Amino acid sequence: MDYRESKFESYDNKNIKNDKTKLAKLIDSRVSNSANKGQHYPKLSKKSSAYYKMFQEIYHLKCAYCGVNTAIQPTSMFEIDHYVNKMQEKLSDGVSVHHIKNIVFACRKCNQAKKDFDVNTGSNTCCECLHPDNEVLPVVFERKENYSIEIKPEYSDCKLVNEFYEKMDFSNRLRKLDYLLLNLYTMRELPEFKMRKNLINNLLVELITTRNQQV
Ligand SMILES: [Zn+2]
Repeated sequence: MDYRESKFESYDNKNIKNDKTKLAKLIDSRVSNSANKGQHYPKLSKKSSAYYKMFQEIYHLKCAYCGVNTAIQPTSMFEIDHYVNKMQEKLSDGVSVHHIKNIVFACRKCNQAKKDFDVNTGSNTCCECLHPDNEVLPVVFERKENYSIEIKPEYSDCKLVNEFYEKMDFSNRLRKLDYLLLNLYTMRELPEFKMRKNLINNLLVELITTRNQQV
């Protein structure tokens, strides 16, 4: 099970790369200056733009790193993350860091935590292996019964995974609260909770308000 999904939701993330490629083609088709083709970030980062809305839909309105959605953290608290940070300018294949393949939909907490995490240097020989689009994150991390995010035992010795886990602040107690909220949010539509929907909604509003005052 993907640690980014609540117990009441399930997404097929296999199409994220393809959908991003299609969006990139659409953006590039509307750019006349060939030098600006492949520079998707400036177009995507404007929250009022149709491209931004399409981009967040591709990620199911969920943070690619932790799975919190825009109902829990409003869109205003989501950001567009450069997986390989902006200082690098180019990816290992020579493509600009502003290309859509290096751009990820992320909540503010994850984006700020990850800031400047250098996926390209040091002992790391698989610089892009933890890119959320590669479907590796749910292989490496898991959600425990107490709602915490943990490194799976078979990856406990991996230096890169440990560095990433620390940098992302995955052990922060807010991660557990976010998962509780995600579960409440997704369970309230189920028929068996129909009678309790108002109660769950009220609880959600109160908890989300308190949560967002802390970040
Ligand atoms: Zn996040």
